[in-house]
Amino acid sequence: MAGSLLLIGVGFMGGSLTLALRKRGFEGKILGVDLREEAIAKGIERGAIDRGWTSLEGVEDWDVDMVVLATPVGTFRGIGEELKGFVKRGTVITDLGSVKGTLVDDLERILGRTFVGGHPIAGTEKSGVQNSNPNLFEGKKVILTPTERTDREAVEKVREMWEKTGAVVEFMDAHLHDWVFGAVSHLPHAVAFALIDAIIEMSRDFDLFKYPGAGFKDFTRIAASDPTMWRDIFIKNRENTLKAIDVYISSLKKLRGLIEEEKIDDLTAFLEEVKDRRMNLE
Ligand code: NAD
Repeated sequence: MAGSLLLIGVGFMGGSLTLALRKRGFEGKILGVDLREEAIAKGIERGAIDRGWTSLEGVEDWDVDMVVLATPVGTFRGIGEELKGFVKRGTVITDLGSVKGTLVDDLERILGRTFVGGHPIAGTEKSGVQNSNPNLFEGKKVILTPTERTDREAVEKVREMWEKTGAVVEFMDAHLHDWVFGAVSHLPHAVAFALIDAIIEMSRDFDLFKYPGAGFKDFTRIAASDPTMWRDIFIKNRENTLKAIDVYISSLKKLRGLIEEEKIDDLTAFLEEVKDRRMNLE
């Protein structure tokens, strides 16, 4: 993999990546850029970066082999435009954003063939480098989304970087990625946010939040995720998220109908089928 790295966005995911690399013997320099001084200071304190700055303009050392974008996906295009004025030709640029699709098309257009889209399928509702975890990627999938134009050596360098963290790399078309993760990640987050909203609505006269059962807590854990990050994901993967929400609404309506009409056998069959599919996951 590359010998030195610049991390843009010294937060939970970026910090987990660099801490994982350090833990597994990466000795190259790791530089960081983050809008917040506090994130730079914490990143240095945790050993996630060696030095850092609060803007790309401020970076004093552009002699790096790889740049990793680890900010919310809504910032990627702007950062890409700015970045192209600074990086050396041939520098590999990758990201770990949750949306790929047209973002990958745009970043490739802006940054050229050495841009490689990536998305680690690991995470948590917590943010900030203080919560970063060097073991986060062990045994987890990382999806890379090279296009037919992507430089093959750049892909290999990004693959090596992720394999060094203990992750398992898979390749996928960037647009297919957004449909898949729109369904299995963005929809569940939308549902968790909406469920809390529904409980707020129903708590007008009586505070239902005083009685959180274990199921409620399990189900809504991800509604504590960072609002900026999720706003950006929903907007950047808008069409797939909307399609997935529509399918979910019809499933809810199906279930509602079975309950309303007291179709006991059909309701049992529905729940049994769903339970089987869920248990197959484990
Ligand atoms: P985070 O909030 O912990 O970290 C993001 C950091 O980026 C923050 O420190 C913030 O100050 C900084 N930042 C924001 N805008 C910036 C800008 N314009 N320039 C420089 N720094 C900026 O968030 P995170 O959980 O680490 O998520 C980062 C990325 O990883 C997102 O794109 C997200 O979609 C992706 N991702 C997250 C998860 C997860 O579970 N958290 C999983 C997979 C992928």
